[in-house]
Amino acid sequence: MTDETRKELEIKIKALIVKSELDIFDMEQNSKPISPENSIGRISRMDAINNKSVVEAALRNKRQKLGKLKVALANIDKQGFGICMQCKNPIQPARIMFMPESSRCVHCAARR
Ligand SMILES: [Zn+2]
Repeated sequence: MTDETRKELEIKIKALIVKSELDIFDMEQNSKPISPENSIGRISRMDAINNKSVVEAALRNKRQKLGKLKVALANIDKQGFGICMQCKNPIQPARIMFMPESSRCVHCAARR
């Protein structure tokens, strides 16, 4: 990986981290506990509960991705960055640009 690509990637990862943190903040606002004395009625309440579990699942994914992005940012200057953890070949640059948090190449990720 060239220094230029690395620099570009670093900027991109930082932007993605900020975006993820904002998304997580938004989603947390949407997954506030539903109060039992809610006057919205039974059906709406069931809707609210369904929405809440959807938001919570999405929130878990977001948090996982944010964690991986932070790891990627911490490792970006290290030798092993951009190397597939499974086959030790370089990860395709397009893949890293698209998903900087990936630690495996396209082939290994497809095989799991
Ligand atoms: Zn691989």
